[in-house]
Amino acid sequence: MPNSHRRRPRRTVTALLLLAVLALATAACGREGSPPAKGPSAEQLPHYAVNTGFELPESPTWRRAERRGHLVIGVKEDQPYLGERDPSSGVYSGFDIEIAKMMSASLGFAPATIDFRTIASANRETALQNGQIDLYVGTYTINAMRKKQVGFAGPYYMAGQGLLVRADEENIHGPQDLAGKRVCSAAGSTPYQRIKADYPEAVLVAYDTYSICVDNLLTYQVDAVTTDDAILLGYAAKAPDELKVVGKPFSKEPYGIGVPREDTALRMALNDALAARQRNGDWKRAFEATLGLSGVPAPKPPPIDRYPG
Ligand code: GLU
Repeated sequence: MPNSHRRRPRRTVTALLLLAVLALATAACGREGSPPAKGPSAEQLPHYAVNTGFELPESPTWRRAERRGHLVIGVKEDQPYLGERDPSSGVYSGFDIEIAKMMSASLGFAPATIDFRTIASANRETALQNGQIDLYVGTYTINAMRKKQVGFAGPYYMAGQGLLVRADEENIHGPQDLAGKRVCSAAGSTPYQRIKADYPEAVLVAYDTYSICVDNLLTYQVDAVTTDDAILLGYAAKAPDELKVVGKPFSKEPYGIGVPREDTALRMALNDALAARQRNGDWKRAFEATLGLSGVPAPKPPPIDRYPG
C-alpha cells in the first residue's frame, strides 16, 4: 500500500467541500456552544446610508469610479467570517466585506453596486498599481514595505499571527515548536515572511490561499497553517472537531484598506469615513454580525493612522 506510512488514510475531499459538509452538519445538530455554522446572516447586517451628495474630485480613483458608476473592490473569497464567497449565489460576506460596503456608502456609491474581485495576497499591490481595483479590503496588513507600493487607510482591525493544527496535534504549541515541521502559508503574506525570517528551521510551504493550506493540513500534507488569528479562528470554527488554533498571537497585523499609493485624497476620505462609522456604531454592529460569530470578541478598533502623503 503506497500510503501505509500515513497515520490515517489520505482523504481526497477538498477542504472547502469538507468545511461545507461540516458546516451543514453543525447547523443540523445546532450543537451548543458552537458558533452559527452558516456564518453572517443578511438580516443581522447593518444597512449603510449612502452619502449621496459626496464628491471627491481631488481623487483620480474616485473620479474614475464615478464615471464608471460603481467601485471595484479587491477582497478574499475563502476566509470565513472575513471575506467569503458563496459559490452558488456569488454573494460575498464577512467583516472585510462589511468594511468595504460601509466605505462605499461613505464615498457615495450604493453598496449593492460594488464589483467585488477576488485577489490573492501576492497580487494585491499589483492590482492596486495597475488600476485593476479601486480599493482592497482583505486582511491586508499595513507595513512599511508595502507602504512604498500602496497607500493604506485605517487600521480598522488589529490581528496577530497564529497557528492552526489538527485537533489531535500534541507537539505544536507555538512557533518555537516548528523546527522540522511542514508549515503552510500564503505566498506574499506577512506570516510567510515572518516564519522564513524568524523560524528558519520550519519547512515552509506556500500556496496562493489559506484554504489550500487548510486542505493540506486536513490531508496530512502539512503539520500547521500559519496566518492571522482572525483567519484561523474562522477555519477552526467551521471544523471544530478537526482543527484547533494553538498558542498566543506572535505578531501585530493591523488591517488597512489598500488604495493606490499617490491617492492621498482617497486615503484621507476613507480615514474620515472609518472614524465616522466607528462613532455611529456601524463598525461594532458589522463586527458582531460577522467576525464576532467565530468567537472573536468585539475589540476596540485601533487608532487610525493618518500618515502624511
Ligand atoms: N495580514 C497578513 C498579510 O497581509 C496575512 C493575511 C493575508 O495574507 O491576507 O499578509
